[in-house]
Amino acid sequence: MARIAVIGAGMGAMAAAARLAVAGHRVAVYERTETYGGAVRRLERDGFSFDTGPGLLPL
Ligand SMILES: Cc1cc2nc3c(=O)[nH]c(=O)nc-3n(C[C@H](O)[C@H](O)[C@H](O)COP(=O)(O)OP(=O)(O)OC[C@H]3O[C@@H](n4cnc5c(N)ncnc54)[C@H](O)[C@@H]3O)c2cc1C
Repeated sequence: MARIAVIGAGMGAMAAAARLAVAGHRVAVYERTETYGGAVRRLERDGFSFDTGPGLLPL
């Protein structure tokens, strides 16, 4: 078992982190913004929500 740092919490890094964790490694994900998602995020303003990238289904 290795200790692995994954940089960024976009879909690519999250998928890699999940696969590494399932393989038995200890994984820590470091994200520079306040939340996960990267390009696949949601912007909320004045009671409206906007996807900033594709939804998970088209992705
Ligand atoms: C409008 C739009 C529509 C799209 N439509 C589709 C579609 O229909 N189908 C499809 O397959 N793809 C689509 N895409 C592309 C898809 O969303 C992206 O290719 C994918 O989400 C990228 O994922 P990623 O993990 O590679 O990178 P990102 O989502 O960019 O994630 C990178 C993360 O790493 C973080 N980060 C960067 N540097 C550091 C650092 N030094 N330290 C800590 N954290 C860091 C960032 O903050 C970010 O959260 C679309 C994109 C957009 C914008």
